[in-house]
This record gives sequence, structure tokens and C-alpha cells, in this order.
Amino acid sequence: MQHDDATRELDKIIHALKWASSHLTRLDESNASRHLAAEVLHTPLTVAVHRASQGAAKLREFLTTQPPNESELRSLAQIVADLDRCPHGRHEGDTCIGWTGPGTYQGGCEGGISLGNPHLQTGDHLGYAYSATPYLMPERDRRNDPEAWKA
Ligand SMILES: [Zn+2]
Repeated sequence: MQHDDATRELDKIIHALKWASSHLTRLDESNASRHLAAEVLHTPLTVAVHRASQGAAKLREFLTTQPPNESELRSLAQIVADLDRCPHGRHEGDTCIGWTGPGTYQGGCEGGISLGNPHLQTGDHLGYAYSATPYLMPERDRRNDPEAWKA
């Protein structure tokens, strides 16, 4: 279930609990009135539904303060982190002797050190931000710094 779907489902639960709480409260008031009671005594069910309604509202508030979808953001960050890998899956500058598993040997990069992504070299343009600032492939040792990707 996605974050937005969870929030929408929780909204339905909150709406139903508020309606039930309101209905039960009016029922308790009606019973008190019918018995000419000086004060309204709420049934345990009314109190429980009211507490559940408050708890769901707090949970909704908590969800609102969370990032949209942590796992999707992590997956996107992983894609960016993988952009400098050579065709053998090694980061530029790391040891690369290729895959040696059964049926997967391809040899590694020339010299046994990863030459990085042959389609994307340091300084290559990747695209543009909304502000029209170009994104560039940063130097190897600065690729973990988001600011280094901006020209
Ligand atoms: Zn390689």
C-alpha cells in the first residue's frame, strides 16, 4: 500500500469514527434527557469510539509529517548512486575483474579497475533543474554530495 492510499483509507476511518462518536454522544444525551438525568453519562462504547477517533486523527497527523514514500525515495537515490557503475556493475575506480559466476563471466574493465559508466563520464550534462540549473556528473569523490551534481 502506498503512503497516499494509506492516508485516504485513514481519512475514511476517521470520518466513520467521528460520525459514530457523534451519533453515540447524541444517543447518550437523548437517554439522559428521557430519564431526566442531571448530567449525561456516556456509555463505555461511546468513550471507546471517541478515543479511537482521537487516536486515528493523531495517526493521520503523524502520516502527514512523514515523507511521501521512504522506500521510493531510497530506490531513486540508489539509481543515482548507480550512475557511475561500469558495465560490470562496479563503481568507477573500484576493482573490476568482471563477473566470474557460472555462465556470467564477461571479463572486467581494462586494467582491473572500473572505468565507470561508458555512457556517462565526469562533467557530462544530465539534464536541468526546474530553475534551469544544469545537472552534471560530478567528480568521483564528490558524488555523495547533492550540491556537486549542480553546475
Ligand atoms: Zn568494469
